[in-house]
Amino acid sequence: MYNEQSIRDRIETTYMGKNVSYFDIIDSTNNKAKELARQGAKEGHLVVADQQQAGRGRLGRAWCSPSGTGIWMSFILRPDIEVQRVPQVTLVAGLSMCETIRECTGLDAKIKWPNDIVVQGKKVCGILAEMGMQGGKMLYVILGIGVNVNTECFPDELLHASSLGRLGGCTYGRSVLIADFAVRFERYYEQFKKADYIPQLVDKYKKMCVTLGKQAKLVEKEEERIVYVVDLLPTGALQVINEAGEKEEIQSGEVSIRGIYGYTS
Ligand code: ADP
Repeated sequence: MYNEQSIRDRIETTYMGKNVSYFDIIDSTNNKAKELARQGAKEGHLVVADQQQAGRGRLGRAWCSPSGTGIWMSFILRPDIEVQRVPQVTLVAGLSMCETIRECTGLDAKIKWPNDIVVQGKKVCGILAEMGMQGGKMLYVILGIGVNVNTECFPDELLHASSLGRLGGCTYGRSVLIADFAVRFERYYEQFKKADYIPQLVDKYKKMCVTLGKQAKLVEKEEERIVYVVDLLPTGALQVINEAGEKEEIQSGEVSIRGIYGYTS
């Protein structure tokens, strides 16, 4: 059973996911969360759908969200932080979801910077944080998360996608995963808002990140180039050495990162 009640029954947080709006079908949980945020919904409000008709990844890319198989959810956040720190919310969510997948499935989940969770080199989860501004002030951040939980088949073009169920060889409960994530994310998010805690979170993220210490292909708009990834900086940017041997900082917004040979390596 997967519905508003099954999620509510399991949530054991102070505020994260305590209010749930559940839909059998919706265009995009991020769009709905934005609408609710504009109407004044509180921090931690969670929008969940069994199916999305127009789920999105970064840069407007489509996110495949069939019914009955995945977690398609968005949290409304209202952090009192500087706008430059908003991309770090994605990293905090990635760290939390990576731990949730490990804990609930036993699978060896890793983070592909900045916003994907991979298992055995296959993408099982994507994260998209979007912010709402008014008059130069940040009003809200919408944290959208898609997890392929029990998905059996993917469209042919999604070569690198897989699901927890396919990789783990069994079926997992979606409400259980949501509830585990809500607890971890609430804890890390509270720490994240105190800027001095960031180095500890970055250290934890690095331990689970597959992108560091190797060559990678940076895909920026039409251009592709090979770099060596040195480190993740406390700001959330990636430090790389470019073709000219110079150090560069890569911000997460406009680039996709790929392995030299495949999706992650
Ligand atoms: P990137 O891989 O560059 O980080 P995004 O985070 O923007 O890309 O995610 C969007 C991309 O994810 C799409 O272009 C598509 O290739 C892939 N994708 C779409 N739906 C799914 C899904 N359910 N599972 C895994 N990958 C997906």
